[in-house]
Amino acid sequence: MSPTDCRRTLNKLSALIGHTPLLELCYTHDGVSGRIFAKCEQMNLTGSIKDRMALSILDHAYREGLIQPEDTIVEVTSGNTGIAFAALGAALGHRVEIYMPDWMSRERVDIIRSYGATVVPVTREAGGFVGALRLVDELADTRSHIFLPLQFANQANVDAHRLGTGVELTRQLASEGLAPDAFVAGVGTGGTIMGVGLHLRKTHPLARVHPVEPAESPVLSTGCKVGTHRIQGISDEFIPAIVDLALLDRPIPVSDGDSILMAQKLAASLGLAVGISSGCNFLAALAVQKELGPNSIVATVFSDDNKKYLSTGLLQNEPVRDHYLSPDVQLKSLRVIAAPRQA
Ligand code: PMP
Repeated sequence: MSPTDCRRTLNKLSALIGHTPLLELCYTHDGVSGRIFAKCEQMNLTGSIKDRMALSILDHAYREGLIQPEDTIVEVTSGNTGIAFAALGAALGHRVEIYMPDWMSRERVDIIRSYGATVVPVTREAGGFVGALRLVDELADTRSHIFLPLQFANQANVDAHRLGTGVELTRQLASEGLAPDAFVAGVGTGGTIMGVGLHLRKTHPLARVHPVEPAESPVLSTGCKVGTHRIQGISDEFIPAIVDLALLDRPIPVSDGDSILMAQKLAASLGLAVGISSGCNFLAALAVQKELGPNSIVATVFSDDNKKYLSTGLLQNEPVRDHYLSPDVQLKSLRVIAAPRQA
């Protein structure tokens, strides 16, 4: 496929990525009623928010001549990014190699392989996530015909959310006569929080923009890996280059067990079968709404669905702890605010 054909293919695929519905979720917590808004990112082509980033990085690379049709796409990822690049790479005729820690869920590995991509597992002894980044860094010096998306440092990742997710969110809220008071999102690469955050800083400068991190491994607050957690997709052991904490409000900590219980509740009460990081994002939004008041407009994203977590704690009995918020949340109803029409 020529570079022009690749760009045409990306353009066609863009109809299947982004432009997601916004959910209004009404709840009560401790007898107080409120509502949280969440972008339905599990509805993207491969089922996660990372399709936006992969499309944006490949589109930028083709526009700037940074990638050639014969290049192998090589990326380090904890899962959803690998799935997104595997799918888009297949559609464009690229070989795709994904380096990932070997403790990620079985489903993720199988899904990546199902697109014809190669998975290179990296053990804890070999350095896990950081070790995988080091390996790929070394590859860049020794192999030709490879394209490294470098999602943790690539501004096209931020732009996917600044120009996509963020704009869609404010338009969807505006269509209801609303404006955001806060946006929260768990940080993996930080593309979501930085992109939506930069958009909001321009359009709604008073809105709060909170990154979210696992209470068990508060990398953003401490600057380094301090523990293990079960919220796959966020808090990958270091602060990514595209994250500028000075532009954000303080990180919100959420427990992994609470996130699992909340994700279970979203599925069982409303039929929203979301992943663990979505439960986490909902609880962070709830915590911020408690500070801003029940009438505040607080938004977040549901990053993926539950199908990649069927073999994880998400499908198991999670013990309730005293400080958890989810046990006292009652989900009442959902309403769908349609995706804005494509420009
Ligand atoms: N949740 C899940 C399930 C993810 O896969 C990711 C991406 N790693 C995120 C949240 C965080 O998104 P971002 O990389 O844009 O910070």
